[in-house]
Amino acid sequence: MTLEKASYEQQVENLIAEAEALLSSYKQQWKGLSWREKVLLLVDLNIPISDLGVYSNYRVANLAARERLRLYFIEHVGEIIHKEELRVVSGISEFGRRVRELRVEDGYKIITGVGDSGEFLGLTPEEYKLLDKEPDLNAAHRWHIANRIKRETKGGSQAKILCFLKEFVGKVVTNDELYNVSGAKEFGRRVRELRTEEGYAISTKFTGRPDLRVGEYVLESLNRVADPHDRKIPYEVQKQVYERDNNTCRLCGWNHHKWTKQDPRILELHHIREHAKGGQNSLDNVILLCSKCHDKVHAKKLSVPDNILD
Ligand SMILES: [Zn+2]
Ligand SMILES: [Zn+2]
Repeated sequence: MTLEKASYEQQVENLIAEAEALLSSYKQQWKGLSWREKVLLLVDLNIPISDLGVYSNYRVANLAARERLRLYFIEHVGEIIHKEELRVVSGISEFGRRVRELRVEDGYKIITGVGDSGEFLGLTPEEYKLLDKEPDLNAAHRWHIANRIKRETKGGSQAKILCFLKEFVGKVVTNDELYNVSGAKEFGRRVRELRTEEGYAISTKFTGRPDLRVGEYVLESLNRVADPHDRKIPYEVQKQVYERDNNTCRLCGWNHHKWTKQDPRILELHHIREHAKGGQNSLDNVILLCSKCHDKVHAKKLSVPDNILD
């Protein structure tokens, strides 16, 4: 609901008069005032000044701070906006939190010069820019799922991460999202443990999916979990195997580029000499196989040549 223009204008006039009265009182007294007395007068002066910011546009003066910020960004999409402008528009000091809500809850692509792509785009930490008028509803939807998981999932950060990955099987999940859902700085380690200790087929740039960016993860399958004996292979060895075998099945040459819905394979680690028979968890005893070849090998319908690594 917007204000009547007349009452809006009256309100602005009142605020200006109030600010002027306080400022002129400051002008008359300041030489005789203590530090504290001056500060207290300026605090009073800040109230009408801050309200004038809220009333700087009559169409939005009655809206919540977050909505005013949203409309300001949209009116200036693609332009660099300084944080002091946002302070004026919002009329609140914690405007940064409202901007974050616009970003993560509503899916607006608002960048700033901290982290992510802000530095690359030449923004300082005091500068913000809305890249697109239309919010990314998908990002917003994912944020709501993450929050539901945070609220409802019992267990620690690892359980929450797994829950989130399971919501997006076969889809890319980012560092930001895993950090948000787990609340754990160590979320990277938790993901690795899901892979190495729990056996989940989680791909990264270094484990099967060179097409991914650093900081992106994909849970490839809900149905396939590595056999317990394959879960003891240290993460560093796993990474080296993926790299040496070029993220490709040693037997048939399958890799993720060949993935289809009809034939949805994943890459798995296989011991050349069975672990139970004394085979080591080392680079010279572990190879990459696609899940199809891996099943055949264990069903003895296909065999791995002894000299496969020669
Ligand atoms: Zn294969
Ligand atoms: Zn195997």
